[in-house]
Amino acid sequence: MRTVDKIYINGEFVTPHGKETLDIINPSNNQKIGEITLADEVDTRNAIAAARAAFKTFSKTTVEERISHLEKLKLEVEKRKKEFTDLMVEEYGGTFKFSSMSNEFTGQWFDSMIDSIKDFSFEETINSSKVFLQPVGVVGIITPWNASNASVCSKVATAISAGCTVVIKPSEMSALQTQMLMEAFHEAKLPKGVINFVTGLGNVVGTELTINPSVAKISFTGSTVVGKLIAKTAVDTMKRVTLELGGKSPNIILDDANLEEVIPIAVFGAYMNSGQACIAPTRLLVPESQLEKINEIARATAEQVVVGFPQNEYTNVGPMVSVKQFEKVQNYIKIGLEEGATLLVGGAGKPDRLEDGNFVKATIFTNVKNDMTIAQEEIFGPVLSIIPYKTEEEAIEIANDTPYGLAAYVSSSDVKRAQKVASQIDAGRVCINGFSHDPMVPFGGFKQSGIGREYGVYGLEAYLEPKAVLQ
Ligand code: NAD
Repeated sequence: MRTVDKIYINGEFVTPHGKETLDIINPSNNQKIGEITLADEVDTRNAIAAARAAFKTFSKTTVEERISHLEKLKLEVEKRKKEFTDLMVEEYGGTFKFSSMSNEFTGQWFDSMIDSIKDFSFEETINSSKVFLQPVGVVGIITPWNASNASVCSKVATAISAGCTVVIKPSEMSALQTQMLMEAFHEAKLPKGVINFVTGLGNVVGTELTINPSVAKISFTGSTVVGKLIAKTAVDTMKRVTLELGGKSPNIILDDANLEEVIPIAVFGAYMNSGQACIAPTRLLVPESQLEKINEIARATAEQVVVGFPQNEYTNVGPMVSVKQFEKVQNYIKIGLEEGATLLVGGAGKPDRLEDGNFVKATIFTNVKNDMTIAQEEIFGPVLSIIPYKTEEEAIEIANDTPYGLAAYVSSSDVKRAQKVASQIDAGRVCINGFSHDPMVPFGGFKQSGIGREYGVYGLEAYLEPKAVLQ
């Protein structure tokens, strides 16, 4: 049985003032594997006070000093790659494949910020005036359970680069990964108070961070519902906010695409992180004239998808993170059927021999209309909707017709044509012919997928406050 009964404040592991506990459940079998003691408002205020005290000197550090801190953080995180992978598999049922790939990337969050600040100018001259880019202050970092480490590491790397100090409120559902991250960051030996962790509930720790006047900025990744709440509350103290929220990403297959190549990629892509990914391409927009052929390839691909225990290296789809998430996905499958979508593969219920865990069948609906609930709302499970379109213009219209605008994908054998389509899509990131990742280019959402951008120089600027000195 694992116990997580420490938080990290002012360079020390301390017992939380909060006494409430939460079970840690293995989603593959719903057995209890541990218990976490939750931090409360008092702990949060202590962490904020430590971060505030540390800010006085940390905000004055040089770029060279910050780079040296980033290098140490990277080293300590990378040392624990294998342990992080094991914990992701155990704690939230992340597949071994996805979890190890995600941890391979972790060092990049630090490298990309080193590259971003080494030539970045923190001051400039406009006419006879100076403009100084100052760190914004104490930053409250609030992150989700999916991609927990990646999210914390990318935000921490950016905050350190800017000279900010942080109070991290990771998801209460990633307590084991957080415990290891606290150890890694502690070993990096940054000045006391620069990095603090308070693991607790959103409406306790998260709310305190959002209302506390000593916190200058909130960097949040999570659902659109909670993001809106945070934005509303944060405005009372005029905090800066960066919100990375949900998505319902379109994947447009143009009529000249090589279907045998792109459809399998599209199906496996929709199931990334067992469908629990904000950027998953969950709406597959296909030419109506090729619908039958595409259905066939999609069905054949789905039959190769391995749903099962996440530690198996061949598994593509593991369990949903919780019973609640499992039920939410089942409900969407039911709604899809009720609203008249055609079930191509999968459907309601659990796959055979996986009854104890939160497993969902790899599911594809076809002949989906874009105004159906399953095409409009973020399901966060292995459910793909195939939506036929008649013309390229209609494909673009459908792609843009949701409240979200996080990611989008376009496939074509003519890259120029795909680029032209990409230019008309309202999304913060459009990938042409497959999935690509670059931690230097901005990431964030149009519309209700968020406010602001993360990564690289765009991310850095969101942690800086310009001050003009006129003379
Ligand atoms: P969530 O919104 O339920 O929780 C996210 C974090 O917010 C958690 O730490 C939670 O404890 C905290 N929280 C909850 N209520 C709060 C409140 N009232 N005040 C302050 N904090 C509060 O999201 P989740 O279920 O953990 O994660 C899944 C969601 O995250 C999906 O919608 C997904 O699309 C989104 N997500 C977005 C990105 C992105 O980069 N855009 C990346 C990963 C996940």
